[in-house]
Amino acid sequence: MPELPQRFDTLKVRAGHRPSEHHYAVQVPIYQTASYELGDPARAERLLCFDEVGFTYSRVGNPTVAALEERVAALDGASGAVALASGMAAVSYALLNVTDGGGRILSTRNLYGGTTDAFKKIFPRFGVEVDYAAEVDDPASFERALRPDTRAIFVESITNPNAVVADLAGLADVAHAHGIPLIVDNTFATPYLLRPIEHGADVVVYSATKGLSGNGSTIAGLVLESGLFDWGDGSFPQFTDPIHTLRDRFGAERGILDITGEFPFTLRLRLTYLAYLGAALGPQDAYLVLLGLETLSERVAKQVATAERVVAHLQAHPDVAWVFHPSAAGSRSADLAARYLPRGAGPVLSFGLHGDPARAEALIAATGLFSYQANVGDARSLIINSARTTHGELDAAEQAAAGIRPETIRLSIGLEDPDDLIDDLDQAIAAAVSALPGTTAG
Ligand SMILES: *Cc1c(COP(=O)(O)O)cnc(C)c1O
Repeated sequence: MPELPQRFDTLKVRAGHRPSEHHYAVQVPIYQTASYELGDPARAERLLCFDEVGFTYSRVGNPTVAALEERVAALDGASGAVALASGMAAVSYALLNVTDGGGRILSTRNLYGGTTDAFKKIFPRFGVEVDYAAEVDDPASFERALRPDTRAIFVESITNPNAVVADLAGLADVAHAHGIPLIVDNTFATPYLLRPIEHGADVVVYSATKGLSGNGSTIAGLVLESGLFDWGDGSFPQFTDPIHTLRDRFGAERGILDITGEFPFTLRLRLTYLAYLGAALGPQDAYLVLLGLETLSERVAKQVATAERVVAHLQAHPDVAWVFHPSAAGSRSADLAARYLPRGAGPVLSFGLHGDPARAEALIAATGLFSYQANVGDARSLIINSARTTHGELDAAEQAAAGIRPETIRLSIGLEDPDDLIDDLDQAIAAAVSALPGTTAG
């Protein structure tokens, strides 16, 4: 049979699983095992020297988890991937992998709350400082904020909560002109909407807890790489320094790049951070993410269509002061969304009501359908008051810098009937306005 190249929707249900290697099982089997037989000492030697590819211990590799890694790598056009026990493990391990030995990360204030906290509380203790450029859609602001020891640029492709679209190609140009990688958290977009590697990203991270799995059942994360970044130019010695554990069968020590030029970033992450800090994804959880991926396109397409309807409805509502989503009329991200997100700009939007900011809490209390929780990308529609919760760790000045206003309400649109969602928002807005009257629409 000829092997034809496969497109996105084929890959999302088939990549990474070859039934003939698994007793012809149609679905990816759950390999619930901690360890693997080494066979005989000669095979053990080949495995340890990377002369043979195989599994030894599920902390660093498991066949079910490997199917997930291969499938998401195929969807993103990546040369390698490693799945982890959470999105935070993916963010932290990726950034430590590029900065270990010290150095700085250049990012923005528009980040997932847990990432912001990690940057403030944990990274400095590992000798890693973070600088903040002004805007993800202004690469020149990154150019100005670079320092001699900046090791990577890190952004979210669609920011939280205001859904500003990053200028990935512009940021990649800035990073590459300075010999550093662009690392992109693509959680909100998922590879269905955006494949950052096609726009110059070198490393992509996901919280698979969100849209990738899409069912709100599992905490999981992934790190992927393009295979195109040059880690061997001397500025990243962690990829070239010879290491005893990487010795060949004659005992000669090797560096990561001597083992693979195809996926050195994820191999090093696997052999160091995953092996020693240990946030391994279990096979059951990998299986749940694989199940979710089977409907990625169908889910996200519907969520985007509903989100666009909700945005238009809110923009026309007299009690709504503002709506942030790239599809909103007048959005600052309209041009970048047209370039990077032709299939739509994702299920997350934010808005604010006129009048007392406490109307946000009154609206949330009044909604009957939206679930009040910090997750995004779920099959159910979700609502949150960002300033008090997800970004509550930020002080007022930091919130202002991140574009989070006190009245901000973030929605993540799910798979319900769009008319039910709009009806629920209308009655909740009316309830909030009558609970806290006194301000006329402006
Ligand atoms: C949720 C999230 C994370 C963290 O992922 P967990 O799976 O919750 O650890 C990181 N980045 C973004 C953009 C997220 O939304």
